[in-house]
Amino acid sequence: MNNQLFINGQFVPAKSGNTIDVLNPANGELITKIAAAEAEDIDLAVEAAKNAFPAWSEMPAAERGHLLLKLADLIEENLEELAQLESLDTGHPIRDSRRLDVPRTAACFRYFGGIADKIEGSVIPVEQGFLNYVVREPIGVVGQIVPWNFPLMFTSWKLGPALAAGNTVVLKPSEITPLSTLKIAELIKKAGFPDGVVNVVPGYGQTAGQSLAEHPEVGKIAFTGSTRTGQGIINASSSNLKRVQLELGGKGANIVFEDANIDAAVNGAAWAIFHNQGQACIAGSRLVLHENIADAFLEKFIKLAASIRLGDPMDPNTEMGPLTSEAHRNKVLSYTQIAKEQGGKVLLGGEVPADPALQNGFYVMPTIVEAQPFDRVAQEEVFGPFVTVLRFKDDAEALEIANCTEYGLGSGLWTQNIHRAHSFARKIKAGMCWINSYKRVNPGSPFGGMGKSGYGREMGFEAIHDYTEAKSIWVNVDAKIPPHFQRGE
Ligand code: NAD
Repeated sequence: MNNQLFINGQFVPAKSGNTIDVLNPANGELITKIAAAEAEDIDLAVEAAKNAFPAWSEMPAAERGHLLLKLADLIEENLEELAQLESLDTGHPIRDSRRLDVPRTAACFRYFGGIADKIEGSVIPVEQGFLNYVVREPIGVVGQIVPWNFPLMFTSWKLGPALAAGNTVVLKPSEITPLSTLKIAELIKKAGFPDGVVNVVPGYGQTAGQSLAEHPEVGKIAFTGSTRTGQGIINASSSNLKRVQLELGGKGANIVFEDANIDAAVNGAAWAIFHNQGQACIAGSRLVLHENIADAFLEKFIKLAASIRLGDPMDPNTEMGPLTSEAHRNKVLSYTQIAKEQGGKVLLGGEVPADPALQNGFYVMPTIVEAQPFDRVAQEEVFGPFVTVLRFKDDAEALEIANCTEYGLGSGLWTQNIHRAHSFARKIKAGMCWINSYKRVNPGSPFGGMGKSGYGREMGFEAIHDYTEAKSIWVNVDAKIPPHFQRGE
């Protein structure tokens, strides 16, 4: 298990010698200590990325793509080790790490490996006599800061487009979950990426993260995390006006209309909130039910949620593991009290499970609370297995509820009426809307939000645009330009 910083193709200790304890969320025990990057390590990583940039950006794009494809193959060859590391470090149930996190990570690198030599410019029809063409150029050194909820997958969402477009990278994983990203660094070396093209520097946000966001030699910072930290990133970026891309929090509305297929919606709504213990920015954390079907829906939904198998993430039968840190578990639990204080009704959970085998881990029971649209539990991101039920009487009210938070990331609709489905999808304030499903992601489909969920898009060609600068080049082919300053001679 790698526990050092990856700078300029080498695993090295932090200059300060400081380390961070990495804990197993299933039992609170120490897994390992990892090197904690600070400002001087960030400087070295940025310098390495800067030195690697000219050769990497000038390398034939197909060769860059080939390295990304090689990395995707290596990830598949190391599926079991990566899945185990991810589950150990984050608490993801192993069945999810095996069938979702690792395959999706490989698929994302493969997609961007394929796109690397298809990043085309354009020719603009300007006035006669001129050729105007636009090329997309890499930005340079890109800083990337990743949270703890899907560390492995987010590493690919961040590195894939940046590298395909010809940038070099300094990536800071979360201090809580660095292990799978350090394994990816090892595979990057094995795949044969030139030294310095990718640098991985785990460290605390206030030190390593802040230095990276402020760094004058970093041309762009791509951040996934909380809205509050994202606001700080914007301030830190102002030193050199670096570009900023923000994937922040969410409060996804998952709306079930009267005409929905109820059984499919019950299962989809449970997946929307309980997958990864609800620690997902796109989670369907507001379940918005038509009043005529709400009671029948809730009866089935509560029964299903109560039957979810909580347990050791390493057990293939486990459907929900622990939350990823103790501090976060406590935050999630505090929302039960917050709901009650505002008159919310706890329909299920709201506490730690009674099972003695789970007492040392950071577990929370699946929690269902009924509340009102402007209550705190319907407005603030809880980021846990905690869903807030809201009722509506007609389409206009459903839309009002859906759009009444400051966020705008994921959303879902369950209806068999195609007119309603498409027109609602257009009116919802969200970067993504799933109709009769929830939480689908694909490396080709843009992912991101609006409002306090941030800006910029990951994945697809949109991501390539976010990792390149458009340069417009004008050529005077045979234009007859009369002199602007007429002189006598
Ligand atoms: P966080 O903002 O605390 O931390 C995210 C990352 O930022 C970590 O690597 C952390 O070390 C770093 N960081 C913290 N302070 C920093 C600073 N001052 N300067 C620079 N970096 C700093 O968030 P978190 O608790 O780790 O993650 C959960 C949040 O992430 C939730 O709000 C969730 O919605 C959001 N999230 C968003 C998306 C999305 O795509 N929109 C995806 C996943 C998670």
